Amino acid sequence: MSETKKKVRVAFFDFADCEGCQLQLTYLNTALLDILNSIEIVNFREVMHERSEEYDVAVIEGSITRPHDEERLKDIRAKAKILVAYGACACTGGVNGIMRNHTVKAALETVYPGRKDKMETGLIRAVDQVVKVDAYVHGCPINLNEFAAVLKGLLLGALYKVPDYAVCVECKLKENVCLYEKGQICMGPVTRAGCGAWCTSNGNTCYSCRGLLEDMNKQGQLDILEKHGVTVEMLKDKFSLYNGCKLEGNK
Ligand code: SF4
Ligand code: SF4
Ligand code: SF4
Repeated sequence: MSETKKKVRVAFFDFADCEGCQLQLTYLNTALLDILNSIEIVNFREVMHERSEEYDVAVIEGSITRPHDEERLKDIRAKAKILVAYGACACTGGVNGIMRNHTVKAALETVYPGRKDKMETGLIRAVDQVVKVDAYVHGCPINLNEFAAVLKGLLLGALYKVPDYAVCVECKLKENVCLYEKGQICMGPVTRAGCGAWCTSNGNTCYSCRGLLEDMNKQGQLDILEKHGVTVEMLKDKFSLYNGCKLEGNK
């Protein structure tokens, strides 16, 4: 009789976020059902009470804000063989990174007037600004098929490759009329693809929830802006909505 293969123990953890990516995971699709036969979930606060300190893969949601979050994350990293960041909050700092436009003190005074001294928060960071990350699942929220592809890749030892081209490529393949032609501003030219140009195909603009391309064509974006009379200043809010932690100079 063949030896039963040991299941890979997977633990989910959350930090500063809305838990939307965890919620997304509970909408099991067939791709995830396949994987469930090969893994054992040992930590998932939103769906189970049991907890375990022994796991092979740690899946992290949320950005890192407080000193004890940093310690907790480092402890998880030390226990896990593989660490996955999932969702924009974890991968780029996400919307929490807006705080990078302000000092921590000013942000606390604005958000918690009169209570700022009782609130414990610090510099917002993406997970890879604190510990090493082995794989990313980008997006706000994540795409379930991509999450399944990343997990399958880890189980098979063949890492999923995040697209390193712009959302515009997927948008053009869908034959969408470019939003710049309609007088709108879009982050597609500098944002990593993989979402199938979800927003621009559904009446919205791209806010770069999947993060900025590492090797972006800055001149290409500048040319588009110039052609349509848009200044970099006008783009600034969109840039920092999801990528405040990752903009040049922010560590
Ligand atoms: S990435 Fe978006 S959906 Fe996921 S936890 Fe962060 S804010 Fe919520
Ligand atoms: S700029 Fe936006 S709307 Fe235009 S092609 Fe690129 S992703 Fe599509
Ligand atoms: S189009 Fe842009 S904002 Fe929308 S899902 Fe894709 S990367 Fe995120």
